[in-house]
Amino acid sequence: MTEKIVKTPEEWKEQLNQNQYEICINHGTEPPFSGKYNDSKLEGVYKCVCCGERLFSSDTKFNSGSGWPSFWKPISENKLEYISDTAYGIVRTEVNCNKCGAHLGHVFDDGPKPTNSRYCINSISLQHEKDNDE
Ligand code: FE
Repeated sequence: MTEKIVKTPEEWKEQLNQNQYEICINHGTEPPFSGKYNDSKLEGVYKCVCCGERLFSSDTKFNSGSGWPSFWKPISENKLEYISDTAYGIVRTEVNCNKCGAHLGHVFDDGPKPTNSRYCINSISLQHEKDNDE
């Protein structure tokens, strides 16, 4: 079982900048092609920007053309929380960090083999392990 991190909105506001709060806590979406990891070829692990949990490896990153960093699988399934999202009258699967609940993005079933999954993740929700800027 993942040990959960629970923080109040005030605590998150103190820790995060305004964009991070909007995406991760208010379940927002960054504009396509705006995020710093969309085209990133950095090798290594992408962590949750809110709690540091190791979520995705660069080995599973691919160019989906969507404008968001895309991965065909997480480091392990128990890193993520999957929620049915029916906003805008369409059914999508939202993915959140299983440790802290931060919103990450959505997963679709039109990805590459072997999983056919496309995890479409906001750059703002991620922090690459070799990237020290905010
Ligand atoms: Fe997290």
